[in-house]
Order: sequence, then C-alpha cells, then structure tokens
Amino acid sequence: MNLLDQAKQKDHACPLAHTRDAFYIPANTHYFDGNSLGAMPLAAKKRAIEVVETQWGEHLITSWNRHQWIDLPHSVGKKIAPIIGADDDEVIACDATSVNLYKVLHAALSLAPNRHRIISEKGNFPTDLYMLEGLKQTRPELDITLVEKAQLIDSLSDDVAILMLTHVNFRSGYMHDMHAITHAAQQKGILVVWDLAHSAGAVPLNLNDANVDFAVGCGYKYLNGGPGAPAFIFAAKRHHDGISQPLSGWMGHASPFTFDEKYQKASGIRQFLTGTPNVISMSVLDAALDVFENVKMTQVREKSLGLSRFMADAVAKSDALASLTRVTEMDDATRGSQLAFAHPEAYAICQALIAEGFIADFRAPNILRIGFTPLYTRYQDVALLVNALISVMTEKRYLLPEHQAKHTVT
Ligand SMILES: *Cc1c(COP(=O)(O)O)cnc(C)c1O
Repeated sequence: MNLLDQAKQKDHACPLAHTRDAFYIPANTHYFDGNSLGAMPLAAKKRAIEVVETQWGEHLITSWNRHQWIDLPHSVGKKIAPIIGADDDEVIACDATSVNLYKVLHAALSLAPNRHRIISEKGNFPTDLYMLEGLKQTRPELDITLVEKAQLIDSLSDDVAILMLTHVNFRSGYMHDMHAITHAAQQKGILVVWDLAHSAGAVPLNLNDANVDFAVGCGYKYLNGGPGAPAFIFAAKRHHDGISQPLSGWMGHASPFTFDEKYQKASGIRQFLTGTPNVISMSVLDAALDVFENVKMTQVREKSLGLSRFMADAVAKSDALASLTRVTEMDDATRGSQLAFAHPEAYAICQALIAEGFIADFRAPNILRIGFTPLYTRYQDVALLVNALISVMTEKRYLLPEHQAKHTVT
C-alpha cells in the first residue's frame, strides 16, 4: 500500500478525526505550524465578530459587566486549568509569556530571599533567557547559570533559588520529564518554573500531580487563540499568600475600583494581573478553548505521537531524503509534538514547501520544523508532505532564487 493510502486508513480509524471540523483550514493548505500559530477555530472568528460588532459596537462600556469582560482573565484561566492539570483558581490569562515570566520569576524570588542563583538550560527559547538578563538588571545580586540538558540534575544545589525550564524545546522538540525534574529540584529546596509554550494543548500535563510551583504558557500556539493571544500564568495555591510581583498595576489590586492610592495586592491568582485585559483577543482565545471541551489530552497525545512516528518512518525509508538529519529523538517519553530536521538548506526547503501549500517553518541556523496539531493535522497531510518533500529534494527546487530570499519573519 502506498503512503497516502496507509495514511487515509489511519485517518479513518482516528477518534479525533471530527475535531478538524471545528477549524477553518484554507483550501490547498496543509498546516504544520500550529506550534507557532494555531489554526483558526470557527468559533473564534464568530466571537471576534460578535465582540467587535455587538459588545464593543452596540453595548460599549456597559459590556464590562454585561458581557463579563472584567472576568475574562479568570474565565479563560479556568478553561486552561483542566488542559494543564491545575485547579480553577490557579491559572490566569494575561499579557505575553515573556512578561509573565518576569512576574513569576520575581514571585518565586520573593519566596527564596537567601538564594541568588537561577538555573536554566542552554538552548532554551531566547525570550526566556533574555528575560533572565533583564531580571538581573533589577537584581544585580543574581547569578544566572545556563547548563546543558545532560548536566541539569547535577547542577541542582542548595544555593539555587529557581530552576526555570521550557518543557518542550522549540528547536529539537525534546520534552523534559516534568515530574522527575520538579521532584529533584524541590529536594534541594529549589522552586521550579516551567514554560509550557510548546506543551499546553499538545501533551497531557498535570502540574499539580507534579507539584509544580509556577508555570507560564502561550495562548496562540497549541491553544489556537490567534496571533498575539494572551498568555497565562499558573501559580500553585500554596504560594499565593507568600508572594509578590513587581508589575503592581490596578487590575492586580485587592479592590481596583476603590481607587486607593496605596497598592494592596489581590488575594489568589488575580495578584498576577497588571493592566486592563486585551478584551478582543482574550475573547477570541476564550472561544477557541471550547474546542478542548470534549477532547481527552491522552487522545491528542496518542495521535501526536502517531503522526510524528508516521513521518519519521517515511522520511527514514526515502533515499531522496537521506540528506535531512532528524534532530528529534524518537523516544515517546521525551518527544513533544513536532519533528525537527537539520539541513544546510533548511530555510529554502521550507520556502519551497510553503509555495506548494505545505506550511512548516524554519528555525535558525538550520532546522526545518514540522509541527503536529492532532486536532486538525491528518495522517494524509503528513503523507502528502513527505511526497512534496521528496519532490523538492529530488528536483532541488530549494535552489530557486525565490526560495533562497530571506523574509523578515521566519
Ligand atoms: C513562543 C514562546 C514564547 C513566546 O513569548 P511571547 O512573550 O508570548 O512572545 C515564550 N517562550 C517559549 C518557550 C516559546 O516557545
């Protein structure tokens, strides 16, 4: 049986086949970039129109109460909570992931006044590392140590305040063992901050089961909240009373509408809010999250592993694709929801694929990244992608000048 027929058989047997109907997927497009910008749920579009036309347009400022705009950070947080294994009152939607990291790192430091070291990983997503640099500007006593993955556990010592890691690496797709690492760090009295940008909505998470202290995550990747969608913060309930965060804006005040001159932090997770919520994008994210309502994350995971395995096997079998080096390890326990292939011409190969309607992406210096979103990616999309890749490589179409030209956003 050829690859496409095998794929169609798998799609036929797939328990998640129906969730694709909740999304708009443009004609002649095979989308493999849901790890960078999730596809648009139909409900998100409907809500965008409603929030602009009716809520803002007709009901104006009364919508803060009438349409519960003011509750959006909480109500969206509540929808994210079951996806990441948290309680309702431990998650809040706000700001960008980078900003949230800053708040969460300060909050964690406020619990560890006598420790000044933060450990993270070399090769972590740059914004996470940049935020550490910025944090050091306001707290010069900090010692920021970046270690290789293999040295992580050995680097955990009694003087470390925070271990900050991204659960699934954006380049390689490697997934850390959240339970084991969190446990090992806490044995040394270290607080653990996880960045879930490439795992929330993609892999089953159980933050409370793993006893995680703090986490941040992204609304526009596997949660499909739209470009620049608000991010989120998780803080374990046990820490809510003892922490403070420096972006002490009025929305995080105990009673914003008494207009006191002195800041007094709100209790609970709301203390992480700073300014007015981005109502339009938060409403869109709110609608997008309904897609997850009747979906089991274990099913999502099973299909995600199936899709990446199907592609890795097909690539390995093809002589035409021998020059692509798979960077992602194929152990199910340490693989996120993407595959990364290294090739000196990765950028141009990606451009050649996009020209044919296969949207993947490129990550410097040499990675072709294929993201799998089981809610709408089908096995047949993967089979067609592999066939397209074979033809791009066989005909060397990546050498065409139009595919070599670099765009601003890769
Ligand atoms: C996508 C991503 C971000 C995004 O940060 P923003 O501030 O929302 O732009 C942060 N961290 C990681 C690991 C990411 O993958």
